[in-house]
Amino acid sequence: MRKPYIAGNWKMNMTPSQGAAFAKDLAKALEGSDVKVMIAPPFVTIPAVLEAVKGSNLIVAAQNMSDNLSGAFTGEVSALMLKDLGVNDVILGHSERRAIYGETDEFINKKVLLALSEGMNVDLCVGETLEEREAGKLEEILTRQVEIGLRGVSAAQMANITIAYEPVWAIGTGKTATPEDADNAHAFIRTLVEKLYTKGVAEELIIQYGGSVKASNVKALMSKEHIDGALVGGASLSVEQFLPIVSFDK
Ligand code: PEP
Repeated sequence: MRKPYIAGNWKMNMTPSQGAAFAKDLAKALEGSDVKVMIAPPFVTIPAVLEAVKGSNLIVAAQNMSDNLSGAFTGEVSALMLKDLGVNDVILGHSERRAIYGETDEFINKKVLLALSEGMNVDLCVGETLEEREAGKLEEILTRQVEIGLRGVSAAQMANITIAYEPVWAIGTGKTATPEDADNAHAFIRTLVEKLYTKGVAEELIIQYGGSVKASNVKALMSKEHIDGALVGGASLSVEQFLPIVSFDK
């Protein structure tokens, strides 16, 4: 039985004081809830958010991390630094990292392996652009991103991996994949993981959908067999919008 997992990616929003105030409100609103919820603030906002959610079940994650542990890498933040703060979860391979900062599947894979070797949990994002979808390349793109992204990851380490299927054309655009389209992509990813590992690993894998998830569409998405959670951008920035998403089953 896969436990629903809802995550909020704040992207480059929320100063430390804004983030702390928001996280405090969210933690209070979620008191007593047993849904698995993660929030991913910008690096500098993380310490204030960690302090604000102390004692709650909220997971505080990073949106990215370096492919190295320390050294001459100006502007980078490492797994060691995150862990020292108490952060054990990281989003890797977000389409904005791929498209804007040129991150390749190989580079993302290096970070995945590093995060896992440091005992962290990884939320690995995959997804096709509109151009790729229209050219009939959905399966080719997902196969490449999943196979290379997970290269060298052991079956045991798969327990620390979540995959977020985020069609790039649906991120921040207000366009959502239909629940059927999303479910088909998720089923394809699950089959791929079964081929790479075992049926058991594939059945346990949490696959989140991301791309303009909101209160009005979360129920329909979450009702699908292979959709186990959501990675939410815009709608994770206010308690009013995020709470109904987290409480989709109420
Ligand atoms: C995201 O940033 O991963 C995302 C899915 O954004 P949005 O919900 O705003 O489309």
